[in-house]
Amino acid sequence: MNDLQQKIYNRLVHYVAFDTTSDPAGTVTPTTDSQISFAHQMAAEMKKIGIQEVEVDEYGFVTGLIPATTDQKAPVIGLFAHMDTVSDYNGHNIRPVLHENYAGGPLVINQEKNMVLSEQNAPRLAQCVGDNIVTADGNTLLGADDKLGIAIIMTLAEHLLKHPEIAHGPIKVAFTIDEETGTGITFFDVQKFAADFAYTIDGANLGDIDHGNFNADSFVLRIVGKACHPGSAKGFMANPVRIAADIISSWPEDKLPETTDKEDGFILFKDITGGLEKAEVQGIVREHDLTKFAKFKQDLLKLLDEKRAKYPAAKIELEFKEQYRNMRDILKARPQAMQLLEKALKENKISYHLTQARGGTDGSQMSFKGLPTPNIFAGYENPHGPYEWCSLNWAEKVLHVLESIVQDAVK
Ligand SMILES: [Zn+2]
Repeated sequence: MNDLQQKIYNRLVHYVAFDTTSDPAGTVTPTTDSQISFAHQMAAEMKKIGIQEVEVDEYGFVTGLIPATTDQKAPVIGLFAHMDTVSDYNGHNIRPVLHENYAGGPLVINQEKNMVLSEQNAPRLAQCVGDNIVTADGNTLLGADDKLGIAIIMTLAEHLLKHPEIAHGPIKVAFTIDEETGTGITFFDVQKFAADFAYTIDGANLGDIDHGNFNADSFVLRIVGKACHPGSAKGFMANPVRIAADIISSWPEDKLPETTDKEDGFILFKDITGGLEKAEVQGIVREHDLTKFAKFKQDLLKLLDEKRAKYPAAKIELEFKEQYRNMRDILKARPQAMQLLEKALKENKISYHLTQARGGTDGSQMSFKGLPTPNIFAGYENPHGPYEWCSLNWAEKVLHVLESIVQDAVK
């Protein structure tokens, strides 16, 4: 293993030893105290390697500056990775296992439990013959999402600080909270961070670049019925339970999460409560294209008009709430982040594909706050579960891509 990979690996092992699971039910920010302790431990390491202006704010965001090594004009570039891990699977007592120089074929994670990475559950592993692979031990997730991102940024920072002959402009570093719960980044002070554009290092496989994401609204559908004794209900009763079921089952089957992928949007009806008096249905709308997104919402409203006509005695109301929007147009309008990224990928001979995340990214929220932020792969597969694995060779490539970006930005 070369020196850079060894450094990334050592950091990954150190960082995943901290349980920083976030809590989707949490009501404070950050949702878990462990993220704050980890933030302070990160701040100490940042200071130690020479990062300047290191700060942990009241929410647990850690920021710092790698000063410019040239007087030439250069944009301020931000690098982001998140400190929390998902609560879907055990993130406590993580013991990473290093599989050096992967020989190909099935990779045993846990003999006793008969857990193996194979072509079926790890399709990208076949590309990594000869690589240094890291997995967990079958009892936990690995936490490469996104501690590998942090390890890459820190190793790059150390490298740049040790080599002032590498010309680059100011680089701002930020480690963030509560990405997995989707609740953290709203509290990040983009103005104070003062970067021109940034990257989140939080994608999965080698070559995956998210330059867009869903447009997202949530909605609440409220149905108030007319209740009475069922024995004398004819011509009078409006039953919210049945009306809700009718509305949900009338929505087209080819516009649901379980029937769509890639660039196709959907409506998900995700929660239903109620009785004969009233019922409430909660859902979300997701679509990459803003025009189609508006059409989805129109279609739902039209469907409700039909049901209002069918059930005149009931009161049917719908309320949409904006969640986030696609950053693609912002990245197009301020193209420097994507231009430098694509140039760096070509320079490092990485074949890549531009995708639109089927979800939100922290970068999309930041883009809308004025900081264009595409998402770069960190080099892992199968996040959020026990089959999560990463390639240190991929991680090293990310580091070189970032190094090219900061150098090219001054040219
Ligand atoms: Zn992540």
